[in-house]
Amino acid sequence: VAKDAGKGQAAVYRPGMKARVAEQAALLDGLRQAVTGHQLHVEYQPIVRLADGRVTGVEALARWRHPVRGPVSPEVFIPVAERTGLIVPLGRSVLAQACRQASRWQRGGSPFATHVNVSAHQLRDPDFVVDLQKVLAETGLAPAGLVIEITETAMADDPQLMDTLRAIRALGVHVGLDDFGTGQSSLGILASCPVDLIKVDKSFVDRVTLDDRRAAVASAILRMADALDLHAIVEGVESAAQAQRLHDMGYRQAQGFHFARPLPPRAVDRLLRPR
Ligand code: C2E
Ligand code: MG
Ligand code: MG
Ligand code: MG
Repeated sequence: VAKDAGKGQAAVYRPGMKARVAEQAALLDGLRQAVTGHQLHVEYQPIVRLADGRVTGVEALARWRHPVRGPVSPEVFIPVAERTGLIVPLGRSVLAQACRQASRWQRGGSPFATHVNVSAHQLRDPDFVVDLQKVLAETGLAPAGLVIEITETAMADDPQLMDTLRAIRALGVHVGLDDFGTGQSSLGILASCPVDLIKVDKSFVDRVTLDDRRAAVASAILRMADALDLHAIVEGVESAAQAQRLHDMGYRQAQGFHFARPLPPRAVDRLLRPR
């Protein structure tokens, strides 16, 4: 910001600003080292069938443990990565790890979907689709076992992104619209965007047992998804009461701390093993 203000001009200086800038620079530096040094790992949060709690898939979530600060939340480091372009190598690493792991789970038998978050910045990389194809070939993952999640806000009517999504689907990979209902143009996007499923945002789930109007919206979203032949997964289910209410509404799949936290692969293995 100070640079944009022009040479010789004093930037507006607030106490703590210098510290914050230094902090951001240190964070970015650490993140860059983590990406190039392959220190980022991935956890997997189960997605379950509401009828019986059976695990039908997982969402891959990037994890970074800073050598000094300890675990840093993706809510902190993903925006930094997006601002600096580091999201491209970071996302490539997450995708490769997730596909490798997913192909192991796929060999286990039953149909199983692994969801991977991808930011708009990554989709704008002209190599994205070719890279994706390569990763599928290298890991042996059947494309139908992969779901690329993209946030609704990132889609905001970018015709080029729509083409990329079509190319992804042409590979047989599925596409999901993440955090559905939080953007400015949810309905418009649904009508035009080439997707297979929506992830209904946690904000609708949070109040579903407390607020009838919120519940009515959650129910309307499901009916709309059904009419458009889209799967709907509810996110952020934290209680049995919420799970019950959503199941009664007709939702079939859910994700949330009530069922399972994001887990290391071995813990997912244990959940998948028949009892
Ligand atoms: P998201 O894709 O919407 O992922 C769901 C987030 O909600 C995860 O947070 C998950 O741990 C959290 N969550 C799941 N169930 C519950 C619940 O019942 N209660 C609460 N309070 N939270 C729940 P996480 O892992 O911190 O990730 C945050 C966001 O960072 C993700 O939101 C996604 O947008 C982004 N992200 C994470 N990994 C990646 C990645 O590899 N690439 C990209 N581009 N973005 C990523
Ligand atoms: Mg997601
Ligand atoms: Mg989400
Ligand atoms: Mg989210």
